[in-house]
Amino acid sequence: MNDPDGPAASARRRLLVLGGSTEASELIRAIDSEGSSVEVVLSYAGRTATRTSSPKGVEVRVGGFGGTEGLANHLRSDGITAMIDATHPFAARMPFHAAAACRSVKVPLLRIVRPAWAPEPADRWIRVTTVDDAARAVHHLPAARVLLTIGRQELGAFAECEATFVARCIDPPEIGVLPGATILLGRAPFTLEDELDVIRDHRIDLVVSKNAGGEATRAKLDAARQLGIPVIMIARPPAPPVDTVERVQDALDWIAECIGALA
Ligand code: NAP
Repeated sequence: MNDPDGPAASARRRLLVLGGSTEASELIRAIDSEGSSVEVVLSYAGRTATRTSSPKGVEVRVGGFGGTEGLANHLRSDGITAMIDATHPFAARMPFHAAAACRSVKVPLLRIVRPAWAPEPADRWIRVTTVDDAARAVHHLPAARVLLTIGRQELGAFAECEATFVARCIDPPEIGVLPGATILLGRAPFTLEDELDVIRDHRIDLVVSKNAGGEATRAKLDAARQLGIPVIMIARPPAPPVDTVERVQDALDWIAECIGALA
Protein backbone atom coordinates (compact mmCIF):
# COMPACT_ATOMS: atom_id res chain seq x y z
CA MET A 1 0.00 0.00 0.00
CA ASN A 2 1.25 3.49 -0.85
CA ASP A 3 2.03 5.95 1.89
CA PRO A 4 -0.82 8.50 1.63
CA ASP A 5 1.60 11.33 2.48
CA GLY A 6 4.04 10.28 -0.24
CA PRO A 7 7.69 9.16 -0.08
CA ALA A 8 8.92 12.42 1.49
CA ALA A 9 6.78 11.84 4.57
CA SER A 10 7.79 8.22 4.98
CA ALA A 11 11.49 9.22 4.78
CA ARG A 12 11.13 11.84 7.52
CA ARG A 13 13.77 11.64 10.24
CA ARG A 14 12.51 12.96 13.46
CA LEU A 15 14.73 13.20 16.52
CA LEU A 16 13.34 13.66 20.02
CA VAL A 17 15.78 15.28 22.46
CA LEU A 18 14.91 15.12 26.14
CA GLY A 19 16.24 18.41 27.46
CA GLY A 20 17.05 19.88 30.83
CA SER A 21 20.85 20.04 30.67
CA THR A 22 23.54 22.28 29.18
CA GLU A 23 24.39 19.43 26.80
CA ALA A 24 20.84 19.41 25.42
CA SER A 25 21.09 23.11 24.52
CA GLU A 26 24.57 22.64 23.01
CA LEU A 27 23.41 19.64 21.00
CA ILE A 28 20.42 21.48 19.58
CA ARG A 29 22.59 24.43 18.54
CA ALA A 30 25.19 22.11 17.00
CA ILE A 31 22.60 20.16 14.97
CA ASP A 32 21.24 23.47 13.70
CA SER A 33 24.67 24.78 12.71
CA GLU A 34 25.45 21.58 10.80
CA GLY A 35 22.58 22.38 8.44
CA SER A 36 20.84 19.14 9.27
CA SER A 37 17.78 17.84 7.48
CA VAL A 38 16.58 16.08 10.62
CA GLU A 39 13.43 17.40 12.32
CA VAL A 40 14.27 18.08 15.94
CA VAL A 41 11.78 18.09 18.79
CA LEU A 42 13.12 19.36 22.10
CA SER A 43 11.20 18.24 25.17
CA TYR A 44 11.26 19.97 28.56
CA ALA A 45 9.69 18.78 31.80
CA GLY A 46 8.62 22.38 32.43
CA ARG A 47 10.18 22.82 35.88
CA THR A 48 11.76 26.24 35.30
CA ALA A 49 9.87 29.40 34.43
CA THR A 50 12.58 30.60 32.05
CA ARG A 51 14.46 28.56 29.47
CA THR A 52 17.43 29.18 27.25
CA SER A 53 16.17 30.00 23.76
CA SER A 54 16.20 27.32 21.06
CA PRO A 55 17.18 27.82 17.43
CA LYS A 56 14.41 28.58 14.97
CA GLY A 57 13.03 25.45 13.40
CA VAL A 58 13.36 23.36 16.55
CA GLU A 59 9.96 22.26 17.81
CA VAL A 60 9.65 22.66 21.56
CA ARG A 61 7.19 20.67 23.67
CA VAL A 62 6.76 21.04 27.41
CA GLY A 63 5.47 18.64 30.10
CA GLY A 64 5.62 14.97 31.03
CA PHE A 65 4.50 12.21 28.66
CA GLY A 66 2.65 10.18 31.29
CA GLY A 67 5.24 7.58 32.29
CA THR A 68 6.86 4.91 30.14
CA GLU A 69 3.65 3.98 28.33
CA GLY A 70 2.83 7.61 27.57
CA LEU A 71 6.29 8.12 26.16
CA ALA A 72 6.09 4.95 24.06
CA ASN A 73 2.75 6.12 22.64
CA HIS A 74 4.21 9.53 21.92
CA LEU A 75 7.20 8.01 20.08
CA ARG A 76 4.80 6.08 17.85
CA SER A 77 2.23 8.79 17.23
CA ASP A 78 4.82 11.52 16.61
CA GLY A 79 6.84 9.33 14.21
CA ILE A 80 10.06 9.63 16.20
CA THR A 81 13.01 7.93 14.46
CA ALA A 82 15.59 8.23 17.23
CA MET A 83 15.88 9.71 20.69
CA ILE A 84 18.61 11.41 22.69
CA ASP A 85 18.20 11.52 26.44
CA ALA A 86 20.01 14.71 27.43
CA THR A 87 18.30 15.12 30.78
CA HIS A 88 20.33 16.32 33.75
CA PRO A 89 22.60 13.75 35.50
CA PHE A 90 20.25 14.03 38.52
CA ALA A 91 17.05 13.30 36.59
CA ALA A 92 16.27 10.04 38.41
CA ARG A 93 13.18 8.74 36.56
CA MET A 94 13.16 10.01 32.99
CA PRO A 95 16.25 8.04 31.83
CA PHE A 96 14.54 4.79 32.94
CA HIS A 97 11.30 5.75 31.17
CA ALA A 98 13.29 6.62 28.03
CA ALA A 99 15.13 3.29 28.10
CA ALA A 100 11.95 1.22 28.56
CA ALA A 101 9.86 3.17 26.03
CA CYS A 102 12.54 3.07 23.32
CA ARG A 103 13.03 -0.65 23.90
CA SER A 104 9.32 -1.34 23.58
CA VAL A 105 8.81 0.57 20.33
CA LYS A 106 12.31 -0.18 18.95
CA VAL A 107 13.49 3.41 18.65
CA PRO A 108 17.30 3.82 18.96
CA LEU A 109 18.31 5.72 22.10
CA LEU A 110 21.49 7.45 23.21
CA ARG A 111 22.04 9.09 26.58
CA ILE A 112 24.43 11.98 26.95
CA VAL A 113 25.81 12.65 30.42
CA ARG A 114 28.82 14.78 31.29
CA PRO A 115 31.49 13.21 33.54
CA ALA A 116 31.08 13.59 37.29
CA TRP A 117 33.48 15.80 39.25
CA ALA A 118 36.37 14.13 41.07
CA PRO A 119 37.93 15.63 44.19
CA GLU A 120 41.32 17.32 44.09
CA PRO A 121 43.88 16.66 46.84
CA ALA A 122 43.02 19.83 48.80
CA ASP A 123 39.25 19.24 48.61
CA ARG A 124 37.38 18.39 51.81
CA TRP A 125 34.48 16.37 50.41
CA ILE A 126 32.02 14.43 52.50
CA ARG A 127 30.42 12.01 50.07
CA VAL A 128 26.78 11.01 50.50
CA THR A 129 24.31 9.07 48.39
CA THR A 130 21.08 11.07 48.60
CA VAL A 131 19.77 14.51 49.52
CA ASP A 132 18.32 13.03 52.74
CA ASP A 133 21.79 11.71 53.63
CA ALA A 134 23.16 15.20 52.98
CA ALA A 135 20.62 16.64 55.45
CA ARG A 136 21.63 14.03 58.04
CA ALA A 137 25.30 14.93 57.49
CA VAL A 138 24.55 18.66 57.96
CA HIS A 139 22.79 17.76 61.20
CA HIS A 140 25.91 16.02 62.54
CA LEU A 141 28.50 18.57 61.40
CA PRO A 142 29.48 21.64 63.39
CA ALA A 143 28.65 23.90 60.40
CA ALA A 144 26.52 26.94 61.17
CA ARG A 145 25.99 28.59 57.78
CA VAL A 146 25.34 26.31 54.84
CA LEU A 147 25.16 27.09 51.12
CA LEU A 148 22.71 24.74 49.38
CA THR A 149 23.24 24.42 45.62
CA ILE A 150 20.86 21.53 44.94
CA GLY A 151 18.02 23.33 43.15
CA ARG A 152 14.70 24.16 44.79
CA GLN A 153 12.72 20.90 44.64
CA GLU A 154 14.41 19.11 47.53
CA LEU A 155 15.13 21.94 49.98
CA GLY A 156 12.53 20.55 52.40
CA ALA A 157 14.94 17.74 53.32
CA PHE A 158 16.91 20.29 55.37
CA ALA A 159 13.92 21.71 57.27
CA GLU A 160 14.80 19.89 60.51
CA CYS A 161 18.45 21.03 60.57
CA GLU A 162 19.49 23.76 62.96
CA ALA A 163 21.98 25.46 60.62
CA THR A 164 21.30 28.74 58.83
CA PHE A 165 20.79 28.16 55.12
CA VAL A 166 21.49 30.13 51.98
CA ALA A 167 19.87 28.35 49.02
CA ARG A 168 20.69 29.23 45.45
CA CYS A 169 18.10 28.30 42.82
CA ILE A 170 17.01 29.34 39.32
CA ASP A 171 13.39 30.00 40.34
CA PRO A 172 12.03 30.80 43.82
CA PRO A 173 11.17 27.74 45.94
CA GLU A 174 7.69 27.21 47.36
CA ILE A 175 7.00 29.53 50.25
CA GLY A 176 7.74 27.90 53.61
CA VAL A 177 9.68 24.92 52.22
CA LEU A 178 12.81 25.90 54.20
CA PRO A 179 11.77 28.55 56.70
CA GLY A 180 14.39 31.17 57.49
CA ALA A 181 16.60 30.36 54.49
CA THR A 182 18.05 33.18 52.42
CA ILE A 183 17.22 32.54 48.77
CA LEU A 184 19.66 33.63 46.08
CA LEU A 185 18.19 33.50 42.60
CA GLY A 186 20.70 32.87 39.84
CA ARG A 187 21.40 30.78 36.77
CA ALA A 188 24.80 29.27 35.97
CA PRO A 189 27.48 29.85 34.80
CA PHE A 190 29.08 31.26 37.96
CA THR A 191 32.68 32.48 38.11
CA LEU A 192 35.19 31.88 40.89
CA GLU A 193 34.77 35.53 41.93
CA ASP A 194 30.97 35.08 42.10
CA GLU A 195 31.38 32.07 44.35
CA LEU A 196 34.05 33.59 46.59
CA ASP A 197 31.75 36.60 47.06
CA VAL A 198 28.74 34.43 47.98
CA ILE A 199 30.76 32.37 50.47
CA ARG A 200 32.38 35.40 52.09
CA ASP A 201 29.30 37.67 52.05
CA HIS A 202 27.15 35.02 53.73
CA ARG A 203 29.94 33.69 55.98
CA ILE A 204 29.36 30.17 54.61
CA ASP A 205 31.20 27.34 56.39
CA LEU A 206 29.75 24.35 54.47
CA VAL A 207 28.62 23.85 50.86
CA VAL A 208 26.11 21.18 49.78
CA SER A 209 26.30 20.19 46.13
CA LYS A 210 25.03 17.53 43.75
CA ASN A 211 27.79 15.95 41.69
CA ALA A 212 26.45 17.51 38.52
CA GLY A 213 29.82 17.71 36.75
CA GLY A 214 30.61 20.21 34.00
CA GLU A 215 32.06 23.71 34.01
CA ALA A 216 29.05 25.94 34.59
CA THR A 217 28.77 25.27 38.34
CA ARG A 218 32.20 23.95 39.26
CA ALA A 219 33.58 27.30 40.53
CA LYS A 220 31.87 26.75 43.91
CA LEU A 221 34.18 23.75 44.40
CA ASP A 222 37.23 25.84 43.53
CA ALA A 223 36.05 28.57 45.93
CA ALA A 224 35.40 26.07 48.74
CA ARG A 225 38.87 24.54 48.23
CA GLN A 226 40.50 27.96 48.20
CA LEU A 227 38.78 28.93 51.45
CA GLY A 228 39.26 25.51 53.10
CA ILE A 229 35.50 24.87 53.40
CA PRO A 230 34.07 21.32 53.34
CA VAL A 231 31.61 20.23 50.64
CA ILE A 232 28.91 17.61 51.12
CA MET A 233 28.87 15.99 47.69
CA ILE A 234 25.73 14.07 46.72
CA ALA A 235 26.33 11.16 44.33
CA ARG A 236 24.36 10.74 41.11
CA PRO A 237 21.27 8.53 41.09
CA PRO A 238 21.43 5.11 39.38
CA ALA A 239 21.19 5.16 35.57
CA PRO A 240 19.77 2.59 33.14
CA PRO A 241 22.16 0.46 31.07
CA VAL A 242 21.83 2.29 27.73
CA ASP A 243 24.40 3.50 25.19
CA THR A 244 25.88 6.61 26.78
CA VAL A 245 28.35 9.27 25.68
CA GLU A 246 29.90 12.18 27.55
CA ARG A 247 30.43 14.71 24.77
CA VAL A 248 28.06 16.53 22.44
CA GLN A 249 30.30 15.69 19.47
CA ASP A 250 29.87 11.98 20.19
CA ALA A 251 26.11 12.46 20.18
CA LEU A 252 26.33 14.25 16.81
CA ASP A 253 28.36 11.34 15.42
CA TRP A 254 25.73 8.92 16.72
CA ILE A 255 22.92 10.89 15.08
CA ALA A 256 24.79 10.92 11.78
CA GLU A 257 25.38 7.19 11.95
CA CYS A 258 21.99 6.28 13.32
CA ILE A 259 19.69 8.29 11.13
CA GLY A 260 22.16 9.59 8.57
CA ALA A 261 20.60 13.01 8.65
CA LEU A 262 23.48 15.36 9.33
CA ALA A 263 25.27 17.08 6.45
P1 NAP B 1 12.89 13.03 36.72
O1 NAP B 1 12.64 12.65 38.13
O2 NAP B 1 13.76 12.12 35.93
O3 NAP B 1 11.52 13.20 35.93
C1 NAP B 1 10.26 13.30 36.56
C2 NAP B 1 9.20 13.37 35.50
O4 NAP B 1 9.27 14.60 34.79
C3 NAP B 1 9.34 12.30 34.44
O5 NAP B 1 8.78 11.08 34.85
C4 NAP B 1 8.61 12.95 33.28
O6 NAP B 1 7.19 12.88 33.46
C5 NAP B 1 8.98 14.39 33.43
N1 NAP B 1 10.17 14.76 32.64
C6 NAP B 1 11.48 14.78 33.05
N2 NAP B 1 12.27 15.23 32.06
C7 NAP B 1 11.45 15.49 31.01
C8 NAP B 1 11.69 16.00 29.70
N3 NAP B 1 12.90 16.36 29.28
N4 NAP B 1 10.60 16.15 28.87
C9 NAP B 1 9.36 15.82 29.31
N5 NAP B 1 9.09 15.34 30.53
C10 NAP B 1 10.12 15.18 31.37
O7 NAP B 1 13.52 14.48 36.62
P2 NAP B 1 13.45 15.71 37.66
O8 NAP B 1 14.55 15.57 38.64
O9 NAP B 1 12.04 15.90 38.10
O10 NAP B 1 13.89 16.87 36.67
C11 NAP B 1 12.97 17.42 35.74
C12 NAP B 1 13.76 18.05 34.61
O11 NAP B 1 14.67 19.02 35.15
C13 NAP B 1 14.58 17.04 33.83
O12 NAP B 1 14.37 17.27 32.47
C14 NAP B 1 16.01 17.32 34.22
O13 NAP B 1 16.87 17.15 33.12
C15 NAP B 1 15.98 18.77 34.68
N6 NAP B 1 16.93 19.04 35.77
C16 NAP B 1 16.92 18.28 36.89
C17 NAP B 1 17.83 18.56 37.89
C18 NAP B 1 17.87 17.74 39.15
O14 NAP B 1 18.76 18.01 40.00
N7 NAP B 1 16.99 16.77 39.33
C19 NAP B 1 18.76 19.59 37.73
C20 NAP B 1 18.74 20.36 36.57
C21 NAP B 1 17.82 20.07 35.59
P3 NAP B 1 6.30 11.72 32.79
O15 NAP B 1 6.57 10.49 33.58
O16 NAP B 1 4.90 12.24 32.92
O17 NAP B 1 6.73 11.60 31.36
